[in-house]
Amino acid sequence: MQEAPTTVSAFAAGLKGRCPRCGRGSLFRNGLVLRERCERCGLSYAFADSGDGPAVFAIFILGFLILGGALLLEFKVGPPVWVHVVLWGIATPLLAFFLLRVLKATLIALQYRHKAEEGRFVSD
Ligand SMILES: [Zn+2]
Repeated sequence: MQEAPTTVSAFAAGLKGRCPRCGRGSLFRNGLVLRERCERCGLSYAFADSGDGPAVFAIFILGFLILGGALLLEFKVGPPVWVHVVLWGIATPLLAFFLLRVLKATLIALQYRHKAEEGRFVSD
């Protein structure tokens, strides 16, 4: 089946967590769980397999931001340890959730746009 080309930007769809084809239906339910299909255009999300990609990117970005922020705060301000525990203990999971959601939706949108899938041997 030939599908109509999408006009939705992969990054806009990723940032909003929207369907990669119509850009309106929600990609997720309950935060990070992928829906079965788009409630607007009916696109099945069965093709979507972002694997470990979002987690890897999230770990790199989070590590840079949180560790950099903690070191900067420590050397510039030198607050008591409980400030670090409370601040980074709250900031890390919130940022991780936001990053995972955006990265997962972006990678799925890019996968949809470029029709990326597992390699297969062509048999004659
Ligand atoms: Zn849709």
